[in-house]
Amino acid sequence: MEFQYSAADEAFRKEVREFLAAHLPADIAHRHALGFHPAPKDDLLRWNRVLAERGWAAPHWPREHGGTGWSPVQCHIFEQECQRAHAPSLSWQGLRLCAPVIYTFGSEAQKARFLPPILRGDYLLAQGFSEPNAGSDLVSLKTSAVRDGDHYVVNGQKTWSSEGHYADWGFFLVRTDSAAKPQRGISFLMIDLRSPGVSVRPILMFNGMHYVNEIFLDNVRVPAENLIGDEGAGWSYAKFLLDNERTSSAFIYFSREWLTRARAIAARETAGGMRLIDTPAFQRKLAAVEIDLQALEFSVLRVLASEKTRWNATAVASALKVRGSEIQQRATELALDALGLRGLRAIDGFADPLCDPAKASEAWPGDVAGVASGMLQTRAVTIYGGAKEVQKNIISRLAFGL
Ligand SMILES: Cc1cc2nc3c(=O)[nH]c(=O)nc-3n(C[C@H](O)[C@H](O)[C@H](O)COP(=O)(O)OP(=O)(O)OC[C@H]3O[C@@H](n4cnc5c(N)ncnc54)[C@H](O)[C@@H]3O)c2cc1C
Repeated sequence: MEFQYSAADEAFRKEVREFLAAHLPADIAHRHALGFHPAPKDDLLRWNRVLAERGWAAPHWPREHGGTGWSPVQCHIFEQECQRAHAPSLSWQGLRLCAPVIYTFGSEAQKARFLPPILRGDYLLAQGFSEPNAGSDLVSLKTSAVRDGDHYVVNGQKTWSSEGHYADWGFFLVRTDSAAKPQRGISFLMIDLRSPGVSVRPILMFNGMHYVNEIFLDNVRVPAENLIGDEGAGWSYAKFLLDNERTSSAFIYFSREWLTRARAIAARETAGGMRLIDTPAFQRKLAAVEIDLQALEFSVLRVLASEKTRWNATAVASALKVRGSEIQQRATELALDALGLRGLRAIDGFADPLCDPAKASEAWPGDVAGVASGMLQTRAVTIYGGAKEVQKNIISRLAFGL
């Protein structure tokens, strides 16, 4: 097994790094480096336009739809470099989750209608899968879509829609047949969130940030042409989407950046007259996370390089998701731990004076803002995209036949 990137990969990394240095606006990078989530909508749109102009907004899409044609390893390097430069991730819901469903299962007319605006950031999307009584048990979802001529009439409630308040469109799982077996009665529908009868309400996270939303659908009339693929086949499209989501949920570059941040904080903070970074206790904790992260990166690279494996792809996606999300949590915990008592200051978001580099002081260094918020935010990563316990059930069933 080759543990190094090739010379061509390193040349590619240099090209990406130079592009980011020249084109990523400094104010966006500063805000993103703080660690609050989500990035302001305007930052996402501005950065999306820059990347779209360069042809790099959706590296993982097939080239014929506007992707780059890069190898999986190049996509991995690109993401590493974006995180290193503190570029915000572009809208995950549209580019990562919904678009692959559209270009795989949608009609030519749907591809032409949705893919270009998603690529440019003209349409931001929300995912409308979960309901108050259908999360892990998604198949029991109740939101109904009843055919009425050339429309569906949709009624129900969705919850936890990430960045739903930024979104122009949503991709929804709806029940089109309540008599069929639960999996067969579900369809995948695009809904314009400006339609009459749609309301989006905020749910505040416990770090004070507005990231997730409830979406209420009250007699919303949706043109039947917005149905993706076949009526009743939505469950298989959802499984395809969730496998994609979990494979890309290892977030190695995210954890690496947080470890860099933890190391920088620990080099400044002291404990018992020593720099924290020099204490054996901190070094041990840091090394433990770094080793696990390194091991995860090799696993991801092995999957990306399609090394033959006896594992089921869905089980692999779940394993990477579980491990990656646990390491994200440990990396942010370490940074907060290093801050000590300073980490207790309540900082709800970008409006706090500490987010302004000019207001940083010896007592309140600029890297305090965002640490506690980031640590709290990552409590959610073992829940969204499928809760950790449920992923472990999937792994035990598919990989070990239990
Ligand atoms: C920050 C955040 C963003 C999200 N964004 C979106 C979004 O954009 N769109 C969307 O549709 N959804 C979104 N979700 C919803 C997410 O997918 C669900 O929260 C998740 O699937 C879990 O469902 P639930 O919250 O209903 O918990 P439940 O399913 O009620 O689970 C509660 C607990 O029980 C455990 N549990 C449940 N079933 C089993 C089982 N069979 N075996 C063992 N343990 C079990 C779970 O692991 C969990 O610990 C988001 C969630 C969060 C927290």
